[in-house]
Amino acid sequence: MNHSSEMTCQRCGKKPCGTWTCSMFNTQRICMECKAKERVHPRYREAVEADNEAIRTGNYRFPGIGLPPELEGGGRGEEDQAPREGG
Ligand SMILES: [Zn+2]
Repeated sequence: MNHSSEMTCQRCGKKPCGTWTCSMFNTQRICMECKAKERVHPRYREAVEADNEAIRTGNYRFPGIGLPPELEGGGRGEEDQAPREGG
């Protein structure tokens, strides 16, 4: 038997101390540690705006813009070699 009442972070797998939230990038339920990593991600603002826009147009089940690979698994801190535009 599983005790499903206890929440486990769907990203890092840790059990948060009672507090969890939804990801802005996708539909995962994540702990506040993972949320903090999202908030400092360069695309977080984009994710929030897309979410707001979806809600404005009546789409309350917006799945998000997609989780950036850097944030998968709680964020391993691996640098991407993506080319930068502008500077
Ligand atoms: Zn987490």
